[in-house]
Amino acid sequence: MIKTDIIIIGAGPVGLFTVFEAGLLKLKCHLIDSLPHAGGQCSEIYPKKPIYDIPGFPSVLAGELIDNLLKQAAPFKPGFTLGEAAVNIDKTDDDDFVVTTIKGTKHKAPVVMIAGGLGVFEPRKPPISNIANFEDNGVDYIIRDPEVYRGKRCVIAGGGDSALDWAIFLADKNIAKEVTLVHRSSSFRGHLDSVQQVINLAEKGKINLLTEAQVVGLNGNEKLESVTIKHKTSGEKELELDNFIPLFGLKPALGPIANWGLEIEKNAIKVDTLDYSTNIPGIYAIGDVNTYTNKLKLILCGFHEGTLAVQSAFSRIHPEKKNILKYTTVNGVQGF
Ligand SMILES: Cc1cc2nc3c(=O)[nH]c(=O)nc-3n(C[C@H](O)[C@H](O)[C@H](O)COP(=O)(O)OP(=O)(O)OC[C@H]3O[C@@H](n4cnc5c(N)ncnc54)[C@H](O)[C@@H]3O)c2cc1C
Repeated sequence: MIKTDIIIIGAGPVGLFTVFEAGLLKLKCHLIDSLPHAGGQCSEIYPKKPIYDIPGFPSVLAGELIDNLLKQAAPFKPGFTLGEAAVNIDKTDDDDFVVTTIKGTKHKAPVVMIAGGLGVFEPRKPPISNIANFEDNGVDYIIRDPEVYRGKRCVIAGGGDSALDWAIFLADKNIAKEVTLVHRSSSFRGHLDSVQQVINLAEKGKINLLTEAQVVGLNGNEKLESVTIKHKTSGEKELELDNFIPLFGLKPALGPIANWGLEIEKNAIKVDTLDYSTNIPGIYAIGDVNTYTNKLKLILCGFHEGTLAVQSAFSRIHPEKKNILKYTTVNGVQGF
């Protein structure tokens, strides 16, 4: 049994920063994540994309932000259970919680913070019957490292920000040898500015833009060799390629968290914005996983939520102690 002050379910940016804020109050944390590494969406979906709205960083790569958050949390020696989804939560007789993972690892603490983001996430896959044969062998649902596509012929499918941004990045930075963007509609869901950039790059011949078209077949023996693209009016054609990258977003699935007796609304956990507590005393929900009026799914907002939640957790864990806010500039960071 792993014992700690706060069990944090989800080692995304919000869970990691919460370790730091808890550490300032001398509360120890243990993080659980179903992924084999920390970082949540930042590491899993867009590690090489620059983020522009982290205060104090005009631009920071998502992967670098995670590295920095890990460094910032390090003095407080968080524990990690990685590669194991939290599947069960039980209340003990002494008013603590025991969180059990899919592999049976047990964790005990008086407070649980759920920082589960989108949940245990799965990419949305196009309905092509043999797609599983080419997964990690020509078909990727997530771009982890754009360098993998250097000098390659890439077909990206999708009409949202992810598809637009990566098509721009791979074409404009001359990473891929050929970039084809296939979208089933003639209008895009992404930012207007990104749509305009794609159109400009298509006019310069750097992106082969195919709208009102869909990838309907994957062909190859040992590895992916070509795709069959069906256009609404002109019919089917085959295109040779190295990589097919369907970027249709993630399936938001709360997974096991949905069955823990928490109040759920729109696939997220309802919280009280006073301290981001849930309907179960001692369980808090912070970051993308929670919902309240005017909720914004931004890293910056999750940092704020985690900060307030640990103040409330402190009072719960040490009802006899008064917590006085101390600036880090005055007290420094006293690790464990
Ligand atoms: C392409 C893209 C670009 C973005 N750009 C920006 C941006 O510019 N600025 C910005 O502020 N935000 C941006 N976001 C949103 C930002 O990434 C999220 O707001 C942020 O990741 C939320 O952090 P989190 O820690 O709450 O959750 P997540 O990052 O989703 O991490 C949650 C973690 O919990 C784990 N988990 C879930 N359920 C369980 C379970 N039962 N057991 C164990 N582990 C579990 C998951 O595996 C995951 O690792 C972007 C998102 C995307 C997809």
